[in-house]
Amino acid sequence: APAIALEHVAKTYRTGRRAVTAVRSLDLAVTPGEYFALLGPSGCGKTTTLRLIAGFEEPTAGTVRLAGRDVTGVPPNRRDVNTVFQNYALFPHMTVADNVAFGLRRRRVPTAEIRRRVGDILDLVELTGAADRRPARLSGGQQQRVALARALVNRPGALLLDEPLGALDPVLRHTMRAELKRVQREVGVTFVHVTHDQGEALAMADRLAVMADGELRQTGAPAEVYERPADRFVAGFVGAANLLTGTVRAAADADGYALVGLDGGPQVRAATTAAPGTRVDLTVRPEKIRISAVEPDTAADRLRGTVRDTVYQGPVTQYTVVVAGTGGATELVVHRQNAGVPAAGTERTEPGSPARGDE
Ligand code: ADP
Ligand code: MG
Repeated sequence: APAIALEHVAKTYRTGRRAVTAVRSLDLAVTPGEYFALLGPSGCGKTTTLRLIAGFEEPTAGTVRLAGRDVTGVPPNRRDVNTVFQNYALFPHMTVADNVAFGLRRRRVPTAEIRRRVGDILDLVELTGAADRRPARLSGGQQQRVALARALVNRPGALLLDEPLGALDPVLRHTMRAELKRVQREVGVTFVHVTHDQGEALAMADRLAVMADGELRQTGAPAEVYERPADRFVAGFVGAANLLTGTVRAAADADGYALVGLDGGPQVRAATTAAPGTRVDLTVRPEKIRISAVEPDTAADRLRGTVRDTVYQGPVTQYTVVVAGTGGATELVVHRQNAGVPAAGTERTEPGSPARGDE
């Protein structure tokens, strides 16, 4: 059975005469042991979805299952899941070790076992030396680790994390990505990580679900979602995208590429199974377009345009190209890798590696 399953789950909040539908109809199955990301813009219903899984909210309709068991109506403390809240919610007057031990003490776990388990989990999150400190004396990253340790110490069936890296500065956010992944692999617990940051979801998740307006738009491995976005929303939200419209002229060949006439003229090959005559939306990622100042010798997938703007972005340079006759988007965004340029006097440089001086 899936670790977590949502079946036609909906949630409408009612306050007085006002009703807000946060989750419309959600179907979702999270595989045991996977790192699952729930990705979507602010207000789309991510936190509500976590609270429905944890039992802090009850669905207006539908069923929530944990490891196959229907837990609809079961209170949070009787569900085998823990939550790491956005603000960590640590007890300020308790030490790190006491924060982590809190749940075990309340369940009357023997003292020796508590000491062992707290020690093990603090080792795992690399906080052994901070056991006797209070949260206020810890950095943001360390507080995050305490919250993680406290939520994992009783080995829940699943861990729900609501924007767990949201409060950290950008550098720490990046380090903690790898940390969270490592901890998840070592404990083998199912993680559901809520974020509005598409880079975070792509980098961390085994699978991710993209959510908008209380509904899931697409679920899949990061590369699937990035390479084959299900609709224009997913294409635009997960990574930069050029969105075009056109009509299928010739059905897909053996490789799965159909010929599509873009609105306004030029034809390109595109991965679609749609029949000739069908109107289609196309996505082209900026890094999939090559820019050439000279006429390329192949006639396929060639558009002519004028560079309007270039922006140096470090690893890539971004070009904005005005293309004649492409209906929807007359401007294409193109990324070109900035290869390492050999410095003057350099004898040999590997392609793409930083230039080196004389040896
Ligand atoms: P996200 O976490 O993706 O930002 P939320 O689940 O917090 O989204 O909110 C989804 C929608 O539900 C929003 O419109 C929000 O204002 C509304 N909402 C969330 N919690 C409540 C609540 N307790 N009462 C009323 N409306 C709520
Ligand atoms: Mg939220």
